[in-house]
Amino acid sequence: MVEDMKGKIRVYCRVRPMSKTEAKNGNTLVVKSPDEYTVQVESQRGLKEFQFDSIFMPESGQEKVFEDTSNLIQSAVDGYNVCIFAYGQTGSGKTYTIIGDSQGNSPGIAPRAFEGIFNLLEENKTKFSYKVSCYMLELYNDKLLDLFSKANHADDTHLDIKKDRKGMVVVQGAEVKAARHAKELYALFEEGSKTRHVASTKMNDESSRSHLVIGIVIESTNRATGNITKGKLSLVDLAGSERAAKTDSSAEQLKEAMSINKSLSALGDVISALSSEQQFIPYRNNKLTMLMQDSLGGNAKTLMFVNISPVNYNADESVISLTYASRVK
Ligand code: ADP
Ligand code: MG
Repeated sequence: MVEDMKGKIRVYCRVRPMSKTEAKNGNTLVVKSPDEYTVQVESQRGLKEFQFDSIFMPESGQEKVFEDTSNLIQSAVDGYNVCIFAYGQTGSGKTYTIIGDSQGNSPGIAPRAFEGIFNLLEENKTKFSYKVSCYMLELYNDKLLDLFSKANHADDTHLDIKKDRKGMVVVQGAEVKAARHAKELYALFEEGSKTRHVASTKMNDESSRSHLVIGIVIESTNRATGNITKGKLSLVDLAGSERAAKTDSSAEQLKEAMSINKSLSALGDVISALSSEQQFIPYRNNKLTMLMQDSLGGNAKTLMFVNISPVNYNADESVISLTYASRVK
């Protein structure tokens, strides 16, 4: 369980199951978990072992993952900045973890959190009145895209990452939409997802090459005192972390790969600066870390999923992901 984790970054490792195709092609499983906190990968370079706050093996379903995450939903309702993000190579299960499967049969953290937030707010509505609002952004090739806006997606000069008086990140120029209940929040999410799909088809890109940021802002007013608390749940589905420079990469693909690489290294630098308690945290090196600034360090509660594939041909990439995630400790 994620206990008192203010200012700390927790890391959960999630291992997806082998796919039918992978099994049919005679691939083998190379990932083991000897105990709750340890994960091992057998690669050509030998057995590598890593430790994290929790390991979810393929048989751990979405309910279990959400159960071990849900006290963070309570924290967001209580006024904390909470961030849950997924890191890993394309195909490792990031979107499955944050959003769910594409058919909607196995909802991930986001749809469960939408419900969870409103359930908690309903329980306390005699004491508190509340406002929930949401924004949804994509970061592609260092460009921000407001998924709630129908405006020109090629140009992001109207979007500006700022902080409000309390240090909460606000993206000036981006639409923030209110939701009165979980269904409405889900409808907003679907609207944003549609825009993302259209835009990514236009760019001849797939969503795995961009970062997705969903921000849910929860404002509660104490009916007796008038005191206002504001929390935020950020859900981030990062772009695929694989080393992308393949020999057949086009110029556009190389540009994408370099931009992803830069943003993920900037994130890694922030995380390791925080965990080694450095004075200066380099948030401003990249738009991704600027966007996530209020969710990393300070009073924020941050949970990182490092998603990996269990299969032999991904072993090297899995070790690279797990090594990246180890910088957090
Ligand atoms: P990514 O977003 O990292 O590229 P996806 O989330 O799209 O990866 O996962 C790749 C495929 O594996 C999808 O078909 C997804 O439904 C499936 N998958 C991923 N993780 C799991 C899991 N824990 N259990 C069952 N299926 C999974
Ligand atoms: Mg994905």
